[in-house]
Amino acid sequence: MIRLKGAEVSAKIKEQVEKMLSEWEGPVPKLAIIRVGENPDDISYERGAIKKLESFGLRVQSYEYPADISDEAFKKAFRAINETEDVTGILLLRPLPKQICEKDIEEMIDPAKDLDGISPVNIAKVFAGDTSGFAPCTAEAVVEVLKQNDISLTGKRVVIVGRSMVVGKPLSMLMLKENATVTICHTRTRDLKGTCREAEILVAAAGRARMIQEDYVGAGAIVVDVGINVDENGKLCGDVDLESIEEKAAMGTPVPGGVGTVTTAVLAKHLVKAGQRK
Ligand code: NAP
Repeated sequence: MIRLKGAEVSAKIKEQVEKMLSEWEGPVPKLAIIRVGENPDDISYERGAIKKLESFGLRVQSYEYPADISDEAFKKAFRAINETEDVTGILLLRPLPKQICEKDIEEMIDPAKDLDGISPVNIAKVFAGDTSGFAPCTAEAVVEVLKQNDISLTGKRVVIVGRSMVVGKPLSMLMLKENATVTICHTRTRDLKGTCREAEILVAAAGRARMIQEDYVGAGAIVVDVGINVDENGKLCGDVDLESIEEKAAMGTPVPGGVGTVTTAVLAKHLVKAGQRK
């Protein structure tokens, strides 16, 4: 099995971003990362995003708020960032604490700054196959991993395990736009293993440590692992047991070092696009 490394895909996206920036005239685009509370996963994602974007020559500013901030105070702060001229794009780390109405924020965010595709406008565009908005970065990262490795989606049988609004659903639409034939699976899917085995491209986005074993994979399949989990030994792992599928799959993405690495590169690309569109 060939391992599809995220770093190689990220390097190609970096070249595209640098080219876009070399033709740039205005101020360098700036990302605002908004974090409420001290969730270690959010902090780690934020650190990774800052490092990646700065290495691409982009600007980042973090905005941090206490976990017990009121709905009203957070919305006031959010509105101010949303309206700041110097802020080109926004990444809001979610989920937000329950006292804040997340739906209101999704509706408030300026679609032109909504780099992770959370606003109803951008979601509608993804579902309409309209590429003038922003798709969720992780979903787009999966498509980038395939495209940058010259894997065509046209006519392919794709199976996606997971139907969240962050990954499974938008990804199914992005792949449909690329002319794949897409099946979406979830916890109520009957014969999950059999369905997965029929996939030429299998995407695991269930959030279940190493659930995809050899018996879920058809011979010669390409397996993309979106999962980021911590196993019983506290070790970071994906939804796919890569060792178990080694002899059966043609290609697979590792965790860490796979889709996650590409997600922040897509975020950088979205930021530059937001700047261009402005
Ligand atoms: P989520 O909201 O919890 O959704 C998980 C989906 O998987 C649900 O649709 C669920 O089905 C389905 N599922 C769970 N267990 C299943 C099982 N045993 N069999 C079949 N379907 C099952 O998770 P998410 O936000 O989409 O994230 C999924 C994974 O991707 C997580 O590990 C997350 O950490 C990771 N992630 C990675 C990135 C990245 O940059 N690489 C970004 C975001 C998320 P039901 O709908 O029936 O419950």
